[in-house]
Order: sequence, then structure tokens, then C-alpha cells
Amino acid sequence: MGLIVQKFGGTSVADANRIRHVAEIITDTYKKGNKVIAVLSAQGDTTDDLIDMASRINPRASNREMDMLLSTGEQISVALCAMAIEALGYPVISLTGWQAGVITNTVSRNARIKRVDTERIEEELNRNRIVMVTGFQGINRTGDITTLGRGGSDTSAVALAAAMDAELCQIYTDVDGVYTADPRLVKGAKKLDEVTYSEMLELASLGAQVLHNRSVEMARKYNVNLEVLSSFTGHPGTKVKGVVKRVEKTYISSVAKDKDIARIALIGVPNETGTSFKVFSLLAKNHINVDIILQGIGHEEGKDICFTVASGDLERAAGLLKENQEEIGFVRLETNADVAKVSVVGAGMINNPGVAARMFEALYDAGVNINMISTSEIKISVLVDKKDGDRAVQAIHDKFFGL
Ligand code: ADP
Ligand code: ASP
Ligand code: MG
Repeated sequence: MGLIVQKFGGTSVADANRIRHVAEIITDTYKKGNKVIAVLSAQGDTTDDLIDMASRINPRASNREMDMLLSTGEQISVALCAMAIEALGYPVISLTGWQAGVITNTVSRNARIKRVDTERIEEELNRNRIVMVTGFQGINRTGDITTLGRGGSDTSAVALAAAMDAELCQIYTDVDGVYTADPRLVKGAKKLDEVTYSEMLELASLGAQVLHNRSVEMARKYNVNLEVLSSFTGHPGTKVKGVVKRVEKTYISSVAKDKDIARIALIGVPNETGTSFKVFSLLAKNHINVDIILQGIGHEEGKDICFTVASGDLERAAGLLKENQEEIGFVRLETNADVAKVSVVGAGMINNPGVAARMFEALYDAGVNINMISTSEIKISVLVDKKDGDRAVQAIHDKFFGL
């Protein structure tokens, strides 16, 4: 018995019946003598619908007003769920991000939590109330509402768990836990009992949306006891922790796909010192993250530099580079948004050579062409044509985990 933070995603609170069910999960935990903080996402597709609504009024609306709008989805969820808990006869209060003391930096729509001022939450818990908190949002130093980026409610939950030193942070979602690949996409995907913070962080950053990557980063930093489980089935979930016991022989934990990625190629860059610096410092200055980078061997006519960015940054990155074409000195710029990044992740691959060869063999057997490759100690990523993405994930998964 102690303090438990429970987070419920959009599908878990999609309608009145789902909200009543979530209220039961929360009150069951409370009945056992625990203190409970519950963090909720907006219902179903509410956030998408709000974005769509805004774009019909003003496609170039300011981020500040977007944050104001998007934060309302979570407010509806916590109020409704608090009402469901009241109806069950338990003491409860719902709080917005700012009422709960979630303080962020000033980056609208992608803010980072700087700290949580926990007095109000502590007060409410001491009154024996269940505390419901809106996910995905906080308040910045100028007093404006900010949102944490898509999928950010996971991060709200982990931040509260860290700040309150909770015993456990449970992320309730629409699948039973973290799988060897997206169970909605890949036949034969298996649930993992445990996964390390580092593996989960790679996975989350490589497109497995089951946890927001910043939530994992924070859980690792503050050693939060994290668990991913289903609000639908009641089955045991996946524990995310520092060290795991691997019962299976495999040293790969999961295969992930990211389709929100695009490639930029700069053709005919002068083969001289400082060109890569010019390209990538320009992008960094403009807060554009670059992922896989490939630079060909230079020759007298020049060299080619290829790299990937998030699809949402493609237009801006290409525009910036074109504005600076003379300064950088490339001959031609090509873009390709019809690509996908497929990755294998596993802490065990450091000590097991041959993972890359097996991955490439799977792609060869499936007739999938590899456009780019990048590796780290615990992951290997390849860039493939978008149309091949799903087939590539299935083929790699079959190779490492069998069907
Ligand atoms: P929530 O609304 O609860 O935050 P999300 O849609 O953000 O849920 O994340 C859950 C989804 O993540 C699942 O429905 C699943 O399709 C997807 N997913 C992708 N990769 C994985 C994986 N390796 N394991 C589990 N789920 C995954
Ligand atoms: N409602 C937000 C989104 O859809 C945050 C979240 O669900 O985590 O992205
Ligand atoms: Mg999510």
C-alpha cells in the first residue's frame, strides 16, 4: 500500500461506459488502501478533432492558441471520470495541469516539464481524495497553458510519479503491454514481461507509440517503477525497469516502424572542409532534428549528403537549405517522403555479432531494398520505401521471433 499513479489513454476513456470502467479500476486501487493519482488523456480522437477544427478556422493558428484549445480535451476526461467516481461514492477531485502544479518551459505544443509543485496534490491526497489530473499539459512561467507533444500524457503521469515518489506508475492502454512489435501490425507479436528503460527509450523514439519517449527518459532518470498494461483485459502487463531477466534466448527485444520520416539528399556538395558543419548547424539552429546521415565518398566533382528528418519538418528543412544553397554550394536538392524507418532494438545485441546480417537477410528474402542504414549499441535501423515498410517489419520479426 502506498501511492500509485495510473494513466489511462484515449481509447480507455473513449465513451461513458469506458469512463465508468476506468472509475472502477481507480476505485478498486483506492479501496485496497492506496493513495491514487489518475492521469487521463482526451477521449478517443478528440485531440485530432480539435486540430482539425482549428485548421478549418485558421490553418496557421498560433501555437499559443493551439495549446489553449488542445488542453481542453483532457479537461473533459478528468471532469467526467471524477463524476463517475463521485457516483460510486468515493471522494475525488479533478485538477488541470496548472492546478496540479505542472510547470513547463515555454515551448508551445512541445513543452518539457521542468518541475511539479506538489502542494495542492499533497493537500488533496491528505484529505483522502482520489486526485484526477489532466494529462499532456502544464503551465509556463508567463502563466500560459502549454501542451507536451502528441502522446504526452504518459510523460505527465511519470513526472507526477517521480515528483511524488510514487511506488508504481501504471500506464493503462488498449494493448496488454509492450510487444515484440506493434501487435496491430505484426502477426505473431509476443508480449514482453519486462523491458529495460534503454530499450524502451529506443523503441519509443523509433516509432513504437505505446509510450511517449520523454516519459521513458524521465522514468529512467528518476527510477520510476513503470508498468504498461491494458485497461480492457486485466492481464498482467510489461514492466519497464533498469535491469531485466531475459528468459528467452533472443537478444532482440522488439521491431519498430516509423513512417513519419522523410529523406533529403543534397547532390554535388563541394568536397571541402566544413560543408557538413554548414548544413547541420543550419538545421540545428532552427530546431530541426536530423536522424540517419549518409555521406558518400567525395571526389573532384563533389560529394552527396543524405539524411532523414521527421516528415513534419521536411518542408521547413528543404526551404532553409534552398535559401542557403549558394552558401552551402550544393547543385541539387531532392526530397522523398515515401520512406519508412524499420528498426530492431535489443540490449543483448552488443555481445552478439551477426544481428545486422540476420536483419539484412530477412529483408533480402522479402525482396526489400535498403536505402540507408544506421546503428547504435542497442539498435539497427534501415530506411526502406514506405510501400515496403509493413512487409519489412513482418519479415524481420519472423526471422528473429519465428511465426
Ligand atoms: P494510448 O491512447 O493509450 O496512449 P497509444 O495509441 O498512444 O495508446 O499507444 C498504444 C498503441 O501503440 C497500441 O494500440 C499499438 O498499436 C501501438 N504500438 C506500437 N508498437 C507497439 C509495441 N511494440 N508494443 C505495444 N504496442 C505498440
Ligand atoms: N491527447 C493527447 C494526444 O492525443 C495526449 C495523449 O493522448 O497522450 O496526443
Ligand atoms: Mg499514447
